[in-house]
Amino acid sequence: MSFAALGLHHSLLAAVAARGYAEPTPVQREAIPLILAGRDLQASAQTGSGKTAAFALPLLQRLHTPPESPRALQTLVLAPTRELAEQIAQVIADLARDLPQSVKVVTAVGGVSINPQMMALRGGADIVIATPGRLLDLLAHNALSFRGLQTLVLDEADRLLELGFEDELDELLQALPSPRQTLLFSATFPDEVLGLAAQLLRDPARVEIAAGPPAVIQQRAIAVDAPRRTQLLRSLIETHGWPQVLVFVATRYATEHVATKLRRAGIGAIALHGELAQMVRREALADFKAQRTRVLVATDLAARGIDIAQLPAVVNYDLPRSAVDYVHRIGRTGRAGEEGVAVSFVSAATEAHFRLIEKRHELALPREVIAGFEPTETEVPAAATGGIKGKRKSKKDKLREAAGQTRTVESAAPASGFVWPAWRGAAKDQT
Ligand code: AMP
Repeated sequence: MSFAALGLHHSLLAAVAARGYAEPTPVQREAIPLILAGRDLQASAQTGSGKTAAFALPLLQRLHTPPESPRALQTLVLAPTRELAEQIAQVIADLARDLPQSVKVVTAVGGVSINPQMMALRGGADIVIATPGRLLDLLAHNALSFRGLQTLVLDEADRLLELGFEDELDELLQALPSPRQTLLFSATFPDEVLGLAAQLLRDPARVEIAAGPPAVIQQRAIAVDAPRRTQLLRSLIETHGWPQVLVFVATRYATEHVATKLRRAGIGAIALHGELAQMVRREALADFKAQRTRVLVATDLAARGIDIAQLPAVVNYDLPRSAVDYVHRIGRTGRAGEEGVAVSFVSAATEAHFRLIEKRHELALPREVIAGFEPTETEVPAAATGGIKGKRKSKKDKLREAAGQTRTVESAAPASGFVWPAWRGAAKDQT
């Protein structure tokens, strides 16, 4: 099926072609006609599935932009992080570039001064992409009105709730007019997201794109002692000649520490974490996206939702806390049909935790051992919390640690016997 068959305006078709999209992805094929028809939508789709264009294209087509001032806000997109909001705004602005009427897109995110955003909203806007906290601030300043709002998009609804935006969302939703069209996108549908969907959506159409990252992602697990991970990382980058790597670590400190070590070894690396000033975060991401930096060392929060074309490798230097985060992380590679590799470092202390992740995803990755980096730790060092992120140990974390203490790394298999596993339920039509 072609984009033209979806009934899109020729200038949108030109924009899509200019971005190199040959045909719609599955979520685009299903969602675009439903959104054009004005339906509410409950869509399960990951970042990487093409979901941004899936809502941006039909919403741009449906936009009415009378030449009056102030422009009434028609479309509001809520996103969990500043980076994702900025990325969505960029995609929308690109796609709208050749439309006959100009479209005003304003990004309203926290962490930067509110004044330029208030200025930008003077005279109104057609589309606002926002994180919930800043949007409430702007509302309190009377910087915008929802009176003419036609469509609300909640992007990554699961993450919005995970990050504790529930109260802000409640407050915002009270302020929004109805009836309106509401589109809810989420990678996962725990009870809280289903509750939100039930509260917000009217007779929604459901779009489900098979969960899990595309099959083009090769997953590897390498057994290594925790103190040797930076050296192993360096060695892998050099051996494989990866032009770019996204490295996930558990803490802000680790982002700086690993990035510094790599830089000292002559590998261009930058740290990205939530406590950096927004300007610095933006620059770090822009440098990485423009391939001016080879390695980005990031925490989960900072890296959520970011889209980097053709990212060849993701490394779990520290393991993700949850099985869901594992999917989000490794989904940063293998984007839109490109091949990618996701490597997880597993030590004696984190072995039990990684097994839980494998179990959740019905994976059984052989533990590779890399020559020169053979693990020697056989039991959990007393102080190790491994890659399990979090300030306080949960009951589950303690159980995992207890399990880890009795384990040795005898499961480490020689690299030669390694077989790439097929991902369970990989999106069949995503190739
Ligand atoms: P998203 O899920 O919106 O973050 O998109 C993931 C990546 O897929 C982005 O790099 C998009 O530019 C790209 N993309 C979106 N739609 C298509 C398409 N129809 N064909 C090829 N790439 C696409």
